[in-house]
Amino acid sequence: MTEITELIEKAQTTHSLKKDELVSVLNDNSANDILFKTADIVRKKYVGDEVHLRGLIEFSNICKCSCFYCGLRKDNPSVQRYRMTAEQIIELAQNAKDYGYKTVVLQSGEDAFFDTKKLCKIISSIKSLGLALTLSAGEKTYEEYKAYKQAGADRYLLRIETTDKNLYAKLHPSMSFENRVRCLKDLKTLGFEVGTGCLVGLPQQSDESLANDILFFKELDADMIGLGPFIPCPNTPLENEKGGTLIKALKVMALTRLLLPDINIPATTAMETLQPNGRILALQSGANVVMPDVTEQDCKQKYTIYPGKAGLNNTALDYKNSIVKNIESIGRTISEGYGFHNKIFGK
Ligand code: SAH
Repeated sequence: MTEITELIEKAQTTHSLKKDELVSVLNDNSANDILFKTADIVRKKYVGDEVHLRGLIEFSNICKCSCFYCGLRKDNPSVQRYRMTAEQIIELAQNAKDYGYKTVVLQSGEDAFFDTKKLCKIISSIKSLGLALTLSAGEKTYEEYKAYKQAGADRYLLRIETTDKNLYAKLHPSMSFENRVRCLKDLKTLGFEVGTGCLVGLPQQSDESLANDILFFKELDADMIGLGPFIPCPNTPLENEKGGTLIKALKVMALTRLLLPDINIPATTAMETLQPNGRILALQSGANVVMPDVTEQDCKQKYTIYPGKAGLNNTALDYKNSIVKNIESIGRTISEGYGFHNKIFGK
């Protein structure tokens, strides 16, 4: 056994690695196949062969933020902005239910139009359909999160993006790392299932910083971790930078599975965008969730957080059917349940 395979085995049995150990595995590519295989074994042991599908509704691409990597940043004039009505959002949720989804994810830019009252009305209408509901609408106050919870929201996704404070400050003008952490802690306190995650392959992001990201996920006691390669987007300050690789994103994901064995981990669209079988590779390297888009064509094409997003030209139903076929082709099954985090480890 090499030093790296020993570390992978240690992570498999103890679900814990130190920062320098994580860095060693991230730095070395000699045992990637073993890492992916081990994450697959741990996934099967703790969350089984079922894949949970979540229907994604991108309900507004209007955003007040200027994140350097994101195509929806407010300073990007080339985006055609849209905002769905409450009726449209609820109709898409009904479609998602009809397609067989048990969860819908409402995602948007940071669009102040959807104040607490409007959003809570949408949340309770969707909850009355009998769906689990995940929100991903950015940074809010404790009181706002509390109102969403009381209206019935079950989960909240807010990626930390990077735990490197200097890099965070450079990439997020007029935002603060401390406030993002505050949001995540508030969400935990309020009893949400909390999803976070990071971008992999940002300019100046080191393996040490990625190791810190993984340790942060564990420290937060996250219920879900979504990771994706950074994909440079035209008309953003990072348009000419090198993007992240699929392999590095899969490695961070596999290590996350080893350290947080029972959480939910999606095979993300950004992974599929970099390589046509990216999603399948992810499902075979630790992932157990897929979030297919149920947004209608015209809006979906305008939700350009990065270019070339996988699945842009399919209808929601075709896309779902092809994903289901792919999942079943690797011997996995589609979950009939809500797919809540079944906690075995953690705090
Ligand atoms: N406003 C919401 C949703 C943001 S979009 C929020 O703040 O949580 C969802 C995710 O897309 C982001 O968290 C970010 O990690 C990812 N993303 C944005 N730009 C990207 C890019 N160029 N490449 C890959 N992923 C990107």
